[in-house]
Amino acid sequence: MTSITRRSLTFGLGAAAALTAASPPIAARAAARSAVLPTVASRKVGNVEVTAISDGFIDVPFGVFTGAPAQEIEAAFAARFARRPAGMHRLGFTVWLVDDGERLVLIDSGYAGGGAPTTGRLPAALAALGVRPGAIGAVLITHMHADHISGLVAEGGPAFPDADVFVHRADVAHYTDPARAAAAPALMKTSFEATARVVASVPRLQRLDGERALTRVISAVDLSGHTPGHTGYRIADGGESLLIVGDALFHPALHPTRTDLGIVFEPDPPAAERMRKRLFAQAAEERALLAATHMPFPGFGRIVRDGGGLHWAPADWELGG
Ligand SMILES: [Zn+2]
Repeated sequence: MTSITRRSLTFGLGAAAALTAASPPIAARAAARSAVLPTVASRKVGNVEVTAISDGFIDVPFGVFTGAPAQEIEAAFAARFARRPAGMHRLGFTVWLVDDGERLVLIDSGYAGGGAPTTGRLPAALAALGVRPGAIGAVLITHMHADHISGLVAEGGPAFPDADVFVHRADVAHYTDPARAAAAPALMKTSFEATARVVASVPRLQRLDGERALTRVISAVDLSGHTPGHTGYRIADGGESLLIVGDALFHPALHPTRTDLGIVFEPDPPAAERMRKRLFAQAAEERALLAATHMPFPGFGRIVRDGGGLHWAPADWELGG
């Protein structure tokens, strides 16, 4: 009682001073928040719990997107009120934790501090959720780009020691090809280097071929085009389903409205466009619930046909879950 009275008195006598003392600068608070609090959101698919976890973000120039001049891309973001200062787009990295009641499965593994110190939040988020690395039974990789696979390696060994790691055979072949690695522009080399680290450090790497069931509730879906072995993962239970589509969509300013826009990391842009045309039309037809790595967090949503065009409709989720 005494302390409350004293605090009230202090506030009353010097509100401005007390507020200043109690509130660290916004930047310091943001740093503290990202260090302490994981960014997670979950939703149920039947009885399966799917938790979206943000591994962090990188600010990238609009010029990373292909198929239109950077000014046109920037204008598309501005029209969505999503343009950031200095011509940059804040690209987020989402990883999913799937609990089917029998085992824990991760889909992708994040950037692990690559590219910028604003990535690599997955381990702290898993710890905050009470999930030990050894408790992960499998990791399913959408494709061998550095922002999706770097988190597979920790201190030179497998970050998830008891997990089988699945990735499409075509991506392993592409990103371990010495001739392609040598010819790759500087921007693309990180994915060849990350793949080399994964192949050397993760003994339980399994090479996937085509579409097949991987667990009781998860199956691999062919979304090749963004990379040669780009793979989606369908989670189905109790009459509901969620399709994790990796890098099929980047932002509602671009996708699904246009299928001709991509990103510089795509080795075969026409193949990427074919994949987007096929997936977007099919997902709209089926009203499929999707989740994509780089869509604004947590990235759950549907493709809807409206007035002849395709649009993104964000779906529900539960904070913290
Ligand atoms: Zn990506």
